[in-house]
Amino acid sequence: MIITVAAFKGGVGKSTTALHLATYLQKQADTLLIDGDLNRSALDWSNRGSLPFKVADEQQGVSLAGLYEHIVIDTPARPDADELKTLAKGCDLLVIPTTPDAIALAATLQMVDLLEKIKNKYKILLTIIPPNPNKAGEEARTTLLNASIPVFKSGIRRLAVFQRAALEGIPVNAVKDTYAQIAWRCYSEVGKEILN
Ligand code: ADP
Repeated sequence: MIITVAAFKGGVGKSTTALHLATYLQKQADTLLIDGDLNRSALDWSNRGSLPFKVADEQQGVSLAGLYEHIVIDTPARPDADELKTLAKGCDLLVIPTTPDAIALAATLQMVDLLEKIKNKYKILLTIIPPNPNKAGEEARTTLLNASIPVFKSGIRRLAVFQRAALEGIPVNAVKDTYAQIAWRCYSEVGKEILN
C-alpha cells in the first residue's frame, strides 16, 4: 500500500502523521518512509534516535521501494492543484492533515473543487485537536462533512508527548510518558481505518 501525506499549510502535523502511520504499518509488514519534505523532518527524526522502519530520501526511495510492502511518502507542504492530482495518482490513499483552526480549515475548503476531482483517493485527518471543553475538533469535523469532504473518524489530539517523541527521535509509543499510549492510540485508530 502506498500512502502519501500532503498538507495545504505548514505546521499541521504532516511529518508527525507520516512517521506514525509508518510506525503502525511496520507492525503489519515491512514499511519504507520516503522523506520528500524539504525540511527533511523524518530523516532528522531518525538521525536523533531510532525508528522501527526504514527512512529514505526521495532518491534512495526510488531504488528501495520494490523491497517494501508499505510505503509512506511525506511530501513538501502546499501542493498546487496539478501537484495534488499527480500525488493522488501515485498512491492508494492521500492523507491530508488539517488542524481544526479557521485558517487551516479555510485552506482546505479552498481546495474543495480540486479535491472533488480526486474523490475516493483522499481523506482529511484532523490533527493537534485541543482538549475538551474546546469544541474546535467537533466543529471542524461538522464543517468538513457538511462540505462532503471525507474525514477520518479518529482525530489526533494535541498532546505534548508528540513533541517529546520528535526531540527524542522515536515514535510516540516508545516515549516513557503517561500520555504516550493515549497519543499512540490516536494514530493506531487511523491506521486501522486505513487498512480496513
Ligand atoms: P508539519 O510537517 O505539518 O510542518 P510537524 O509534524 O513537523 O508538522 O509538526 C509541527 C510541530 O507540531 C512539531 O513541533 C510537532 O512536534 C508538533 N505536533 C505535531 N503533532 C502534534 C500533536 N498531535 N500534538 C502536539 N504537538 C504536535
